[in-house]
Amino acid sequence: MVTGGTGYVGSWIVKKLLEAGYTVRMTVRDKNRTSKYAVLQQIADRSTGTLEFWEADLLVPGSFDAAATGSDAVMHVASPFMIKVKDPQKEFVDPALEGTRNVLFAATKSGTVRKVVLTSSVAAIHGDNADMAEQGLAMFNEASFNTTSSLNHSPYSYSKVLAEKEAWSIAEAQNAWKLVVVNPSLVLGPPLMADSSSGSFTIMQDILRGTYKFGAPNIRFGYVDVRDVAEAHLLALERDDAHGRYLLAERTSGIIDITQMIRSAFGDKYKMPKGLVPKWSMYLVGPFVGLKWNFIHRNVGHSFELDSSKSRDQLGLRYTPLETTMHDMVTAMDELGMV
Ligand code: NAP
Repeated sequence: MVTGGTGYVGSWIVKKLLEAGYTVRMTVRDKNRTSKYAVLQQIADRSTGTLEFWEADLLVPGSFDAAATGSDAVMHVASPFMIKVKDPQKEFVDPALEGTRNVLFAATKSGTVRKVVLTSSVAAIHGDNADMAEQGLAMFNEASFNTTSSLNHSPYSYSKVLAEKEAWSIAEAQNAWKLVVVNPSLVLGPPLMADSSSGSFTIMQDILRGTYKFGAPNIRFGYVDVRDVAEAHLLALERDDAHGRYLLAERTSGIIDITQMIRSAFGDKYKMPKGLVPKWSMYLVGPFVGLKWNFIHRNVGHSFELDSSKSRDQLGLRYTPLETTMHDMVTAMDELGMV
């Protein structure tokens, strides 16, 4: 059973499972909205796998029970990831936390599920880039949990750390299934379909539409290709020795590096910045592009590194170079009319 298959990350996971020959029970909120999964149905028709649709909603207790019963494994991917929301409790925390409870309780009740792979995030590992120096760390790895996000400050990150902690606590209270957690950094790479509100596209649309043409914010992120995230989920499912958390990042670098990759691949087609914007001017313009002062204060200009060696050495993940990821993402978004 896979939740969130209609989304950016989940659709690639479903594609890889189908191509590997699995029978996938994909949960959808409304089976009648066929546009949400038409592409996956076409992939299923060409693959050795089988695709089934089961209706379920993260906010409805018990709604995953039927789909989980008879499944061997669960991949819980669904959780809202948007850049701007009005009510963070309702739009982030409730679906993340209640959804994790409802999906994992369904796994326990099923009597058949032996493994659960949870899509968490580096947002559950750290809150702000400033955390790294404050915690005396040279880089973040799987040992850290985010302690600085809240409902008022980076609520998406807060929802992810609450949900992952809840998952570990539910997992420890039973012994029918094993939990493996995947913690991707910012996911980039080609979408399979245009119909997604994922923050990955909001961030990329801002860059491609010239929001930063006068200067890029001096913020570092970790990045990982969506196809590698899907591969990590399959490795976490199939490898008996997969355990604990896996931080995924091909590298950490600044937004300016992303814009330079776009310029070298696409020339002047998109309006890319030539340099960095000073932090003081971020305080002036930030609120107009959805960045709060405290976020700017604790993230702009701070050093930030991620250690993804466990995913490489223990899980055996081979990362796509970020240059390829960026080229393929911009090309696919252009073709799908998302720019
Ligand atoms: P997305 O494209 O917006 O996908 C979100 C998925 O969650 C959709 O399938 C959506 O279904 C489903 N969903 C939301 N609310 C639901 C509800 N109440 N009931 C049932 N399903 C619901 O976002 P994404 O980027 O693929 O993110 C997927 C996962 O990856 C999330 O757990 C996110 O935290 C994690 N992640 C993402 C990134 C990133 O950079 N994108 C990085 C790290 C971790 P509908 O189609 O019906 O809306």
